[in-house]
Amino acid sequence: MFKKVLIANRGEIALRIMRCCRDLDIKTVAVYSTVDRDLKHVRLADEAVCIGPPASAESYLNVPAIIAAAEITDTEAIHPGYGFLAENADFAERVESSGFKFIGPKSETIQLMGDKVSAIAEMKAAGVPCVPGSDGPLDDDAARNRKIAKRIGYPVIIKAAGGGGGRGMRVVESEEELIESIAMTRAEAQAAFSNPVVYMEKFLGKPRHVEFQIIADEHGNAIHLGERDCSMQRRHQKVVEEAPAPGITEEVRNRIGERCVAACQRIGYRGAGTFEFLYQGGEFYFIEMNTRVQVEHPVTEMVTGVDIVKEQIFAAAGNKLRYSQDDININGHAFECRINAEDPENFLPSPGTINQYHAPGGLGVRVDTHIYNSYQVPPNYDSMIAKLIVKGNTRETAIARMRGALSEVFIDGIKTNIALHERIFLDENFRQGGTDIHYLEKMLGL
Ligand code: ADP
Repeated sequence: MFKKVLIANRGEIALRIMRCCRDLDIKTVAVYSTVDRDLKHVRLADEAVCIGPPASAESYLNVPAIIAAAEITDTEAIHPGYGFLAENADFAERVESSGFKFIGPKSETIQLMGDKVSAIAEMKAAGVPCVPGSDGPLDDDAARNRKIAKRIGYPVIIKAAGGGGGRGMRVVESEEELIESIAMTRAEAQAAFSNPVVYMEKFLGKPRHVEFQIIADEHGNAIHLGERDCSMQRRHQKVVEEAPAPGITEEVRNRIGERCVAACQRIGYRGAGTFEFLYQGGEFYFIEMNTRVQVEHPVTEMVTGVDIVKEQIFAAAGNKLRYSQDDININGHAFECRINAEDPENFLPSPGTINQYHAPGGLGVRVDTHIYNSYQVPPNYDSMIAKLIVKGNTRETAIARMRGALSEVFIDGIKTNIALHERIFLDENFRQGGTDIHYLEKMLGL
């Protein structure tokens, strides 16, 4: 096992990783921007290195500064968390060529899965169900593209191979718009991702977002930890997540989970990863893989008892997977609310000083957060300040528990979206379960 790990991230996930390292008796190095010197994990880590000014590009995305911090602290491995450099294949490569372990998959795997066209090709070969589509990049042959769209059936969606964060996509309703839409998406993709490759998929009208968590070692072993439903989204940003997904039977879970495991073995995956699917009419359609730990990983931890960050670290250190598929049982139901420093009416960020913070507690309640009394939420980064996670024996119990926990949270000084979460957990359709990815925006009248 590693003796020292550098955490190349900030906020709640940096604290989450630090706590896991402590469980494993691993020393930690925090890196921070000048505005983050009072972050909780920076104060608690064994060592801390300032890597630059507030702007992410000069600090948390500053590869030479992070590598230098690892060198001067004699770090053995680097955990990237999520966001920032977590899915940057060049960073993973630089980490390894500088003599450190990257806590994640190999850089080639990140590259392969980061390109959606190559990712889909690998998934198809592994028998993972994909969205009917162009089976590869689109060229500029208008007649051919019209033929592909006709075969798939309108509406279709044009997507950038290098896209991310819900950007680089365009829905096409009819043949008249097709050729221009392809050209426009291509131009945007070139400008935003320096990659003009686009492809076509059938546009699914009312899907749910259901994703599978997997863990794998570098010895060819992989298992799945079941699925999460992350359909409650606003502008493609997840707001509430849950595990398991309502209405998914054990038979279906195992069938799709087994395909994800086969895909991991095919691509030589290492560590934790997520296969994202759209789920509509009882069918799963793969859309992309996330090659890192995700914000919503705790709901899976709550129902399986597996510490996903710990398994990432074990896998990166070259250990064999400590679980077999038979060891994994889904127990109870878990929800996560992403608590953001934002105005609940207009969703604008609300940075500032937290005067008072009281955390909820009790059986089955977990709070992953870096905030504390007098903590200043900087305006420079993502507005998520806490994750409230609850578990109950049934979905109904978990809903009741979340409502209780939400009523206990007290954050004074900044605006938060807690009122939005309270509304969601009172909503009749949400409480029934199985609402689609457009439901939240509809509920909010957006
Ligand atoms: P990103 O990497 O930008 O998150 P994804 O491929 O994961 O891109 O897609 C993001 C979102 O776009 C999905 O969650 C879904 O809401 C929508 N989307 C993507 N592909 C389709 C599709 N074929 N049909 C309907 N919606 C889609």
